[in-house]
Amino acid sequence: MKFHILTLFPEMVLSGLNTSIVGRASKNGLLSIEAVNIRDFSTNKHRHVDDYPYGGGAGMVMQPEPIYAAYQSICEQAQKKPRVIYLTPQGRVFHQQMAEEFAKEEELVFLCGHYEGVDERVLELIATDYVSMGDYVLTGGELPAMVMIDCISRLLPGVLNNEESAEFESFHDNLLEYPQYTRPEVFLDKKVPEVLLSGHHANIERWRREQSLKRTFERRPDLLEMAVLDKKDRAFLKMLQEGKEQG
Ligand code: SAM
Repeated sequence: MKFHILTLFPEMVLSGLNTSIVGRASKNGLLSIEAVNIRDFSTNKHRHVDDYPYGGGAGMVMQPEPIYAAYQSICEQAQKKPRVIYLTPQGRVFHQQMAEEFAKEEELVFLCGHYEGVDERVLELIATDYVSMGDYVLTGGELPAMVMIDCISRLLPGVLNNEESAEFESFHDNLLEYPQYTRPEVFLDKKVPEVLLSGHHANIERWRREQSLKRTFERRPDLLEMAVLDKKDRAFLKMLQEGKEQG
């Protein structure tokens, strides 16, 4: 997978993404991350990339030409037109299934806005996806792009080793993950649940499944509508529901 990030702050995204698991994957050639500085494509002698909004109003708007030229340089290099994700609070809110869909692409372009945003015309020409990090406003698209790249990268083959496996994590089957414990066995009088020390794999699996259902029921009941549930799961959830109703 090749990630291209169109940004005014390449050092910001590269310093974050060249670290830890994503940085290791990049060094091992499992993915590549390129930050394209939009300012390098400005034809203005002062290297301006923004201007006042037509119609008045506060702030500055990123101009279309440097963004379009930067995008074209990526297309020439890629010899195709990759999907372009514009990070915006006006987009679809990012979630795990979206990451799984993006992980199937060979190349992705992330367009990071700043100031009041980006001239609408260049978005009409190049943006294929509008993605939001959530219902709040940030100063720029760099942090959302980094979040998305981190999330997509860990789904790519070889990026996580066995110990870091993404297979049974939160949102797998649309459920939250069960609680995790490690050494010591007793911490400030709090003991690790007995079943996890039993070595009985079937019981451990059932306990984890029920904890996963319970956690989702308590914290994110909205996810249960789309969860993949069997008969036992449904009976367990019914019990939780009845317990709640009885107070
Ligand atoms: N004026 C814009 C609006 O009201 O929709 C917000 C502009 S914001 C200050 C500047 C840039 O930050 C945006 O162009 C976008 O790239 C990024 N941004 C801000 N909040 C975001 C969010 N929740 N998700 C994704 N990107 C965001």
